[in-house]
Amino acid sequence: MDLQKNKDLVYEEVARAIHQANRPESSVAIVAVTKYVDSDTVAQLVDLGVQHIGENRVDKFLDKYEHLKDKNVTWHLIGTLQRRKVKEVINLVDYFHALDSVKLAKEIQKRAQYPIKCFLQVNISGEESKHGFKPDELDEVLEELSSYDKLKIVGLMTMAPIDATERELNYIFKQTNDLRQSLKERNIKNMPFDDLSMGMSRDFPIAIQNGSTFVRIGTSFFRE
Ligand SMILES: *Cc1c(COP(=O)(O)O)cnc(C)c1O
Repeated sequence: MDLQKNKDLVYEEVARAIHQANRPESSVAIVAVTKYVDSDTVAQLVDLGVQHIGENRVDKFLDKYEHLKDKNVTWHLIGTLQRRKVKEVINLVDYFHALDSVKLAKEIQKRAQYPIKCFLQVNISGEESKHGFKPDELDEVLEELSSYDKLKIVGLMTMAPIDATERELNYIFKQTNDLRQSLKERNIKNMPFDDLSMGMSRDFPIAIQNGSTFVRIGTSFFRE
């Protein structure tokens, strides 16, 4: 595996997608999802200039964090978080991408030492297997969360089904951005709703076309 080459290619492909969408170069952050590799490989990636590192599981997050905590890394926890693990990890993360229940929010509120930047995960496609709030639940959820001062809701996160067509991907990502915009217009305290976490190796160009500001890319960094 040629890490330098893979990294350059990912950055080039993302830059091309941003350009095609007529957006400013700096408007999309690339989160390298490192669940497939060990800490030494992540250290190499950081030395190549990758700043945003994402893990989907708490144990792996802590492992990488421990190894790399002297480096300049912005840390993303991108996967489902069990309530009993919140206290181990929440004060180490810069962004938590998978807030998917009010009970979890309540636990974060209890354990966080400062406002944690969170994405609300939304399930636009309605797939039963997917985590996330349904759009019509959000009114009630925001009402509850508006009193939680240890959460800063920076935006929405979504995951498209693996077998989604290009047309479906455009629909899901556009719906998510429209929803984010309508929530932003409510001007709720601690909920700027400026960001969108969407797009993975197979679908990030379409996510960028539809306004994504954080793409979560794993496989493409580590291909042979
Ligand atoms: C693994 C993972 C990714 C990255 O997916 P790739 O297809 O490997 O790019 C993104 N987001 C989440 C939540 C993941 O678990």
